Amino acid sequence: MDRRRRSFAVLVLFLCAAVIIVGYAAGLLIRFFRERGEVLPEDASGMEITFLDVGEGDAILVTADGESMLVDGGVPECSDLIYAVLRDRGLDHLRYIVCTHPHADHVGGLSGALRFASVDEAFCCTSEYDSRSFGSFLAALKKQGVELQIPEAGRELKLGAATITVIGPLSHYEDLNDESLVLRIDYGGTSVLLTGDAGYQAETDMMDSDFPLRADILKVGHHGSGSSSYYYFLDAVEPQFAVISVGKDNENGHPSENVLEKLEKLGAQVFRTDTDGDITFISDGRRFIKKDN
Ligand SMILES: [Zn+2]
Repeated sequence: MDRRRRSFAVLVLFLCAAVIIVGYAAGLLIRFFRERGEVLPEDASGMEITFLDVGEGDAILVTADGESMLVDGGVPECSDLIYAVLRDRGLDHLRYIVCTHPHADHVGGLSGALRFASVDEAFCCTSEYDSRSFGSFLAALKKQGVELQIPEAGRELKLGAATITVIGPLSHYEDLNDESLVLRIDYGGTSVLLTGDAGYQAETDMMDSDFPLRADILKVGHHGSGSSSYYYFLDAVEPQFAVISVGKDNENGHPSENVLEKLEKLGAQVFRTDTDGDITFISDGRRFIKKDN
């Protein structure tokens, strides 16, 4: 009898110890993944990213857990369109507004956004560029009392549960396209790379850096131009979805056939604003799903 009781007590002790060890290990694992950003907080509601059809230009709207960021705004003629997009979505406040670089096909429509929405923080790769559209952007920010920041590579921003990391530019370049702010967005285990108009040189420097490049969605550099999308860069990103923001029958011959071939070879599913219109993906932190238009 005594022996049986002892065995029972040992068994109970053993089970208790097992439960504690398993529980502790599970806690450690959750902490490990949460620190790596791969587990979302319980109140996370999802991330949505829309590549707006602004013709030959870029305009990308990201909303994560109720907070929004606009990256570029298309050409100046897109101001009213950007205004209407924000109005229709009821987005009268943006956490961030980003001008990847001051070329008119990126900064142009941003003043339209600032006519409708207030903004907390604004970023660009430079604060000095002599053009009417960049001047309008600066004036609209000034009106809101928001200072334009030039973020260093490595700067991290939070948008809901998403982490946005500035991974470029990593140097100063002669070509303003290469100076484009490059943003990596991580939401749970899903990721997006927004490269502005960064070309070969900037891509090579990113490959030489320690920043992770692999991403589920790649906004293909410079509207699919042949001066971007170095094969080894695309190979490092290895995107499931590649988005080309490009105008119908544009004068620049974008996108380059060669870039399209490289993306096909890598098995990426390609979407283009000139043929697909607005392109939206949603993430639950585990994977991206393309939304039907
Ligand atoms: Zn451009």
